Amino acid sequence: MFDKILIANRGEIALRVIRAAREMGIKTVAVHSTADSDAMHVRMADESVCIGPPPSPQSYLSVPAIISACEITGAQAIHPGYGFLSENAEFVQIVEDHGLTFIGPTAEHIRVMGDKITAKDTMKALGVPCVPGSDGGVPDLATAKKIGEEFGYPVIIKATAGGGGRGMKVAMNAGEMESAFMTARAEGKAAFGNDEVYIEKYLTTPRHIEIQVFGDGKGNAVHLGERDCSLQRRHQKVFEEAPGPSITPEERAKIGKVCADAVAKINYIGAGTIEFLYENGEFYFIEMNTRLQVEHPVTEGIFGVDLVREQILVAAGEPMSFGQEDLVINGHAIEVRINAEKLPNFSPCPGRITAYHAPGGLGVRMDSALYDGYSIPPYYDSLIAKLIVQGRDRAEALARLERALGELIVDGIDTTIPLFHVLLQEPDLHSGDYNIHWLERWLAENMEK
Ligand code: ADP
Repeated sequence: MFDKILIANRGEIALRVIRAAREMGIKTVAVHSTADSDAMHVRMADESVCIGPPPSPQSYLSVPAIISACEITGAQAIHPGYGFLSENAEFVQIVEDHGLTFIGPTAEHIRVMGDKITAKDTMKALGVPCVPGSDGGVPDLATAKKIGEEFGYPVIIKATAGGGGRGMKVAMNAGEMESAFMTARAEGKAAFGNDEVYIEKYLTTPRHIEIQVFGDGKGNAVHLGERDCSLQRRHQKVFEEAPGPSITPEERAKIGKVCADAVAKINYIGAGTIEFLYENGEFYFIEMNTRLQVEHPVTEGIFGVDLVREQILVAAGEPMSFGQEDLVINGHAIEVRINAEKLPNFSPCPGRITAYHAPGGLGVRMDSALYDGYSIPPYYDSLIAKLIVQGRDRAEALARLERALGELIVDGIDTTIPLFHVLLQEPDLHSGDYNIHWLERWLAENMEK
């Protein structure tokens, strides 16, 4: 096992990794920009190294600075968290070339899943159900129009290199194809330097269901059920839960096995998430994330396992601490993402926290790097806290969420906490009756007018 690991991240996820490492008796090294000298992850780690100025390209994304920090401190492995360098295959290669261990999948797996066409081809070959669409890239408008006729409208045109919801355009009918095709190409070129696009059937009322998988890199893998993350704003998840209210135990076992078998076959190592759209009882693969997800705590809650601990174990060459038969669902967990943003427009709202009180009690987990007097710097993501609650069933979890939100105090800045107070009054939220468009529509009707 490692003696010391470095966490190439900041905020709540850096704390999350430090906590797991500490329980395992592993020393931790935090890295930080000059804007984060007073950050909680720096205070909580055993050691810290300043790696550059505030802009992330010069600090949290600076590979030489991070490798040097490992060498100075004698850290043997790097946990990337999520975002930043977590899905950067070149970084993984450089880490390995320096004789260090990357706590995550191989560079090759990250590369394959990072390109949407190779990811889809790989999953299809492994028996994972995909959205019907073009076989690979679509070279020109004439081909695009032919595919539109063949699959039937609406279709979605997606940039191969796209991400974060960018480089995607919907064509509702043949008349919209030309402009959708050209725009998706142009966006792909501008944002990712690659104008290749492909086409899929556009699903009109799907839910977002993702399967958590975990492999040991030696051909063994398990699934940890699904998370429903259908409540999204601009393709960003806002409210996540496990298990999914619309998924039956039979469906879970079936799609879970397909996913676990698929990643076992490629000797996948560590945590991964296979994302699907789910409509009329069918699952359609959209992408795989080769890292720990923001919403992993809901899965940890219902299975009672520590996914970061497992990531560290398998990275050190040790076996996973559980097999499929050990993974039994216990209750229901919900996470809400709290951002430093001003409603109704969700504009970023960094600044000084004048008062902070975290909720507690049975079934409440708060993953946050906030403290009284902390100044949120303006340079990074606006996520400041994840409130995770668990109950014996969904109704209990929702009641607990409302109670915990009532105890939570974050003064001095605007946050998205009021959004959840209002959302929890909605009958659809309690019945679980929504798809990926529900929140956008609700916001348009209730907030943004
Ligand atoms: P990104 O990598 O940019 O996040 P994804 O492929 O994961 O792109 O898709 C992001 C979101 O776009 C999905 O969660 C869904 O809301 C929507 N989407 C993607 N593909 C389809 C599709 N075929 N039909 C309907 N909606 C889609």
